[in-house]
Amino acid sequence: MQIFKLKINKNLCTGCNVCVVSCPINFNLLKEMGQLDEENAVILVKNGIAFPIYIENRNPNCDGCGVCIECCPQSAIQIEVLEVK
Ligand code: SF4
Ligand code: SF4
Repeated sequence: MQIFKLKINKNLCTGCNVCVVSCPINFNLLKEMGQLDEENAVILVKNGIAFPIYIENRNPNCDGCGVCIECCPQSAIQIEVLEVK
């Protein structure tokens, strides 16, 4: 199984929220649940910086689509793929 771990460069991130609203998973969750919070979103901005949220056994977690990476105006996001059993 693959886990997609997002790494946000805190020195570059401006907290603009573009990654949060561009993420297709966040979009679908927002449509279904009416809000995004730390319980459901896969990426959020808090205290002016974006942070990824991974919750074990939750579906969906980040699927590594890379949309947020392409959309980030600061090129602050990188993705690491972890292989777990
Ligand atoms: S799009 Fe980039 S700069 Fe904007 S909040 Fe996300 S990581 Fe930070
Ligand atoms: S890689 Fe795709 S699923 Fe993961 S946070 Fe970015 S936009 Fe969302």
